[in-house]
Amino acid sequence: MDLNHKLSRRLITFAEQFENPVVRIEDLEGIRENSSWSGVHSWHFHQLQQFITYKAERAGIRVEKIDPSHTSQECSACGSMGTRDVDHFSCSECGRKRHADLNASENIAQREGEPCTA
Ligand SMILES: [Zn+2]
Repeated sequence: MDLNHKLSRRLITFAEQFENPVVRIEDLEGIRENSSWSGVHSWHFHQLQQFITYKAERAGIRVEKIDPSHTSQECSACGSMGTRDVDHFSCSECGRKRHADLNASENIAQREGEPCTA
């Protein structure tokens, strides 16, 4: 799961630029109840969240749990609610198409008012 390592490291590096950074992760309990997540898919994402939490704690960054419905469905480019079809995210507002996990990670990485640098 090299991608998960890269994503989590990128996220922590991004967060460390700020004073009192907060990393937000999706509440995993909610994901398990969501039937649209396949077992393998949610396992990957679960591992990514574990990496993020671990690396954030080591870096002294606060971790907040958030409602999972937002980050998986919100467009990381324009913030509109897009559609998610298993691994594929697409936004009807700006036409952005992305791997759903990447889109969600970018949403998680973004702090209020900060543009996404990914
Ligand atoms: Zn969009």
